[in-house]
Order: sequence, then C-alpha cells, then structure tokens
Amino acid sequence: MTPDISVVVPLYDEESNVEPLYHELTAVMRALDRSYELILVDDGSRDGTFPRLAAVCARDPHVRVIRFSRNFGQTAAFAAGFAHARGRWIVTSDGDLQNDPADIPRLLDVARDHDIVCGWRKYRKDAYLTRQLPSVVANWLLGIASGIPLHDNGCSLKVFRAEVVKPLALAPGMHRYLPALASQLGGRVAEVVVNHRPRRFGRSKYGLSRTCGVVCDIVRLRQLMRQAVERTGPAPRLYEIAEMIEGAPH
Ligand code: UDP
Ligand code: MG
Repeated sequence: MTPDISVVVPLYDEESNVEPLYHELTAVMRALDRSYELILVDDGSRDGTFPRLAAVCARDPHVRVIRFSRNFGQTAAFAAGFAHARGRWIVTSDGDLQNDPADIPRLLDVARDHDIVCGWRKYRKDAYLTRQLPSVVANWLLGIASGIPLHDNGCSLKVFRAEVVKPLALAPGMHRYLPALASQLGGRVAEVVVNHRPRRFGRSKYGLSRTCGVVCDIVRLRQLMRQAVERTGPAPRLYEIAEMIEGAPH
C-alpha cells in the first residue's frame, strides 16, 4: 500500500498527549478521504509515551511507530519519519497538540500547486519575551540569509512534497530551517495562517539557549543549505532505531 499522505510527528515525553493527538489526527485524516499513514516517532521518551503509542498502533493499521534508543532530538525524529514515509505528501506536526490538526486539509489544499506549505502561528500562544520576540528577529534574519521570506520557519505544521525532503542530509537542529533546505529541491513555497494552542499537558523541551544556537546557524545558513543537498561520504549517524511497530490490519 502506498498512502497519499504521511503524517510525521515527533514525541518526547508526551504521554498525556498521545491519545488526544491520535484522535484529533485520525478524525481529520478520515474526513479527508485520502489514503494516509501516521508515523509517530518516539524520540527516546522516558515516560509512558511508548506504551501509549504501542496501544494506538495495536488498534489502527494506519499507525506506524518508530522508537529511538535514546533522545536524539526533533530533527532526528523528523528525519527518521521522512526516511520511512511512503506518502507523496509529508505532513509534519508537533506532538503536543499546540498545532491543530484541523488546519491540515487547508495546507494540503494549497500544496496542490506548491512544494512546501508552511504554517504561520500568527496568534502564537507562547511567552512573548522569551519565545515570540526572538522568533520574529530570527525569521527576519532567516529570510535574508535564505532568500525565502517567511513569518514563521519554526512552526512544525507544514506540508512537503516528499521529493523535497527525502533526499536532505539533515544535521541536528536543522528541522528549524526545513523550508530553506527543502526549497533547494523545489522552490514553490507558500505560507498559511494556522491555529496555535497553549500546551495543555507536559512541558516544552526548549529554553532560551536555543536562541543562541539559531543565531550561529543563521550566520552560516548558506553553508548549511549546501551541506544538506551536497553532503558526500557516509552520513553521520543522526539516530538509532530501537524498535519499529506497525498497526496490523484486523
Ligand atoms: N521533541 C522531540 N525531541 C526533542 C524535543 C522535542 O521529539 O528532543 C518533540 C516534542 O515532544 C514536541 C515537539 O518536538 O512534540 C516540539 O517540542 P516542544 O513542544 O517542546 O517545543 P516548543 O513548542 O516549546 O517550541
Ligand atoms: Mg510545543
């Protein structure tokens, strides 16, 4: 079976989000009436995330779960999802319910004549000084460095034509620049305003230190973009898969 759409979601210590996430995603994908798979990537969680993922997988053949041997980071989780995705379209989303699956149909609609469709959390529900303000500056600089002006590179809710992300050699942290990296393989980029919700369960995995890393990355963004499409030799090991389970048809 080759699904039309692969939804890739990273989860790290998100036990309370697994069930509601699964239900929200499933309701939206069913209503779309297109074939799909949900690739849920457990990035080395130490709470009950994996058993809960295994439980939803056991009852739904649309679900595939990848479990890392330890925490490798969000980029690694997306990269593993991209590598295993079978769909023509790849939808990415966070796993903490801050992104709203109800936006997916609109993004997919715009994707019919684009290669990359990015969510824009115009009314973002995160702290202003520590999260929103640094993000405005970073996005402005990223637009200058990459030539792809976007309001919100950091929104995980996106749709990619599979061909523009599968070949990318991703280094840690690079999920933040996916539009810039992927645009080298297909440059029709669109931006769509999406809903953003406060976190209800669990905690954010990032603090202010992330901002410093982003500044360093932006300075050498052109080099990072080149490396993502031109890297030669063996790729550094970004992740190690401990286990993969697939929902069997009943
Ligand atoms: N995440 C992950 N590995 C990590 C850090 C985060 O898989 O090392 C996942 C996390 O579980 C969530 C998504 O990436 O589904 C976004 O993380 P978070 O909500 O902490 O980021 P924020 O919304 O605060 O920027
Ligand atoms: Mg979040």
